[in-house]
Amino acid sequence: MNLETIIAGIVDEMRGATDRGTVAHYIPSLAKIDPAHFGIAIVTADGETFTGGDAETGFSIQSISKVFSLTLALGKVGDRLWSRVGREPSGNAFNSIVQLEAEKGIPRNPFINAGAIVLADVNLAGYRPREAIGELVQFVRYLTGDDGIAIDETVARSEEETGERNRALAHFMKSYGVLLHAPEMVLGTYFHACSIEMNCRQLAHAGRYLMLGGRHPDGGRVVPDRRARRILSLMLTCGHYDASGDFAFRVGMPGKSGVGGGILAVVPGKASIAVWSPGLNASGNSQLGGLALERLAEATGWSVFSG
Ligand code: GLU
Repeated sequence: MNLETIIAGIVDEMRGATDRGTVAHYIPSLAKIDPAHFGIAIVTADGETFTGGDAETGFSIQSISKVFSLTLALGKVGDRLWSRVGREPSGNAFNSIVQLEAEKGIPRNPFINAGAIVLADVNLAGYRPREAIGELVQFVRYLTGDDGIAIDETVARSEEETGERNRALAHFMKSYGVLLHAPEMVLGTYFHACSIEMNCRQLAHAGRYLMLGGRHPDGGRVVPDRRARRILSLMLTCGHYDASGDFAFRVGMPGKSGVGGGILAVVPGKASIAVWSPGLNASGNSQLGGLALERLAEATGWSVFSG
């Protein structure tokens, strides 16, 4: 299998694609991004990196940060997390409030907004928001091996100015006692986590611990093997909001998308993959990112369902 050729074919097809989706417009600073971008990076288990298109251009990782926030939160409270967040696909939009009322303020899973707001609350314990954010950024830098990773403050401000629905979710959960800290502190932490900027190469590197059964490529253990498997299973079942089933069907890899147009996908033991194209489909997932991963899965045979 020649990954360079496969990537070149995918980049070619995505460059020429006419149906590119629509960039997220509800966060003003994301609405300005050119939908012509497409980038891909693949890191294989033996440590080789392959890139194509705009793999070195930074973008807002948005909800992909939820994977890293979940990893940190599980490290802090372990299985106690599951009394405050569920583990079922939501079947609802990423920012839905309806389900939250029916389920007494307990979010369906850690990858919808309400769930990640709970993760921010967990990660805030004993810290000020600035410190909790610093810890998350440090963690992502450690995973990636790149100290240049930082928060895009313009995006964070833009989210803070327009995040009324996330505010509603947080206050709602607070009313049920699911959040322990003041909603504004939790939201500040959440918005900044979403505003981490990375490029495809960095993101693919950040996912290596999930490809390697919880190990950092330097040999250190990031999470136990069982936890890595559990995070991956949540990515597969909940990583694409109410289109998670469709993504599993088409691509067959655990993946987490963000409204910045990025997707992190992992094939355990084989590859950590990042794709980015800012145009979103109706479910809020990258239109071309999903298609590119579908093409990659076809060309490589990579899937968690193949023997
Ligand atoms: N910061 C975004 C929000 O809270 C994240 C959504 C996403 O990437 O799905 O609305």
